[in-house]
Amino acid sequence: MSALLDELTRIVGATHLLTGIDIPPQHCTDWFQTHSCEPRALVRPGTPDEVAQVMAICHRHDQPVTPQGGLTGLVAGAVPAQGDVALSLTRLSGIEELDTSAGTITVLAGTPLQTVQEAARAAGLLLAVDLGARGSCQIGGNVATNAGGNRVIRYGMFRDQVLGLEAVLADGTVVGSLNKMLKNNAGYDLKHLFIGSEGTLGIVTRAVLRLHPMPLSCCTAWCTLPDYDTVVSFLRYAQSRLAGTLSAFEVMWPDFHELVTTRLPDLRSPVASNGLQVLIEVEGSDSDRDMAMFCKLLEEALEWGWLQDAAIAQSIKERQAFWSLRDAVSEFPLIWSPYCGYDVSVPIGAIGHFVTELQSALRERFPHCEHVHFGHIGDSNLHVGVHLDRQWGLFPEAEIDDCVYGLLRNYGGSVSAEHGIGQHKKAYLGHSRTPQELALMHTLKHAIDPKNLLNRGKVLA
Ligand code: FAD
Repeated sequence: MSALLDELTRIVGATHLLTGIDIPPQHCTDWFQTHSCEPRALVRPGTPDEVAQVMAICHRHDQPVTPQGGLTGLVAGAVPAQGDVALSLTRLSGIEELDTSAGTITVLAGTPLQTVQEAARAAGLLLAVDLGARGSCQIGGNVATNAGGNRVIRYGMFRDQVLGLEAVLADGTVVGSLNKMLKNNAGYDLKHLFIGSEGTLGIVTRAVLRLHPMPLSCCTAWCTLPDYDTVVSFLRYAQSRLAGTLSAFEVMWPDFHELVTTRLPDLRSPVASNGLQVLIEVEGSDSDRDMAMFCKLLEEALEWGWLQDAAIAQSIKERQAFWSLRDAVSEFPLIWSPYCGYDVSVPIGAIGHFVTELQSALRERFPHCEHVHFGHIGDSNLHVGVHLDRQWGLFPEAEIDDCVYGLLRNYGGSVSAEHGIGQHKKAYLGHSRTPQELALMHTLKHAIDPKNLLNRGKVLA
């Protein structure tokens, strides 16, 4: 053990190899703090080459390693297993190149998402993925989790922003393809092995990200619709009329709307009706033309009876107020404890039935529970939140998991839309993947990391 630590110290220096009480507590858990474990040591390499050397040493000593980014993950993927060395990418921060002609930015993996967004914006460009955790989460973590967010309907997930990647394998081998080209079919596209594999196949050290032109106009409206089928018709019509500018289509069921407007101070609904609420946003390049198209769409939908009510944001402040209602989800743990949240996917056409069936299943099995349903419906992504007050006994999280994931299986849904599997959803991966897919995942893991040193106990059972 001390030989291992001595070797690691020679690479990163004593300041960046911490043990025992010197390890900051945040490195023992992640955002939800459901799992916690103190690593054997915390190592903080300062360059990609140091990451490679650290991994080569750990490999020689059969030492398991947990990669850690900004620690904002929601499925305990970055929480070390007993005896692991935690490898933090935080010192690997910085923008290496912004190439305006290629429309790319090359960054080190520990760079916070917001720093990259700001650098792109300063050059008049857009890094299209955005998340509530932007100030803390890191590009390496975003790649490793294939993060989503609010604009997936327009720009895709993190996978769609990555053109090139450099990663370090479990034995310290550096696999680098810092490709800047949109088209590159030269053999297997290996970067996809590392995107969304949650640090189980390699440690991301650098990424080349695709940038988009910065939108010059934004129109936002809050609408109420009578039922889910109308929501889908409205979504499809909006996509066909808005010529690729639709950038958000967030749907909130009445249970969500009621909770945030009655239980959270300072949040007021822009509409009086209590049907299905939709926050719709378009981003374009000509304010007058885009607003005219947007208003026409809403007028038509009102005329056809699709919309019961609608409010268009007249200022940036109003737009922010609409988004505050949608983002009030981050307040739930404060007003609703104990609480469990789900991030699932269901084919868009079936989401309405799924929610109705889930609401009655939850009420039947847990008569005193409260629930909310909302999500990025344009991306088939539904979030579900369930609360049961302590007065009704121990919080039955495992039974609620069974209820949600059991029903999901019947709908051919996915147990993880954007947060990943980590430790939380490992037991349910088989609900969304066939035995053949699972077997191939194990084969890949074994081929790339035969000693099972990288983020063991995560994703695969
Ligand atoms: P961490 O939490 O540190 O790690 C996450 C996983 O990636 C772990 O398995 C870890 O081992 C691995 N990992 C980290 N860095 C690397 C690396 N360099 N190489 C290899 N593996 C690595 N997620 C969404 O998808 N959409 C959202 O809208 C969204 N909103 C959020 C809002 C809030 C308020 C919070 C707290 C979280 C939200 N998340 C969201 C979840 C989280 O922010 C994302 O999963 C994010 O991508 C994690 O990045 P991180 O740097 O914090 O990674």
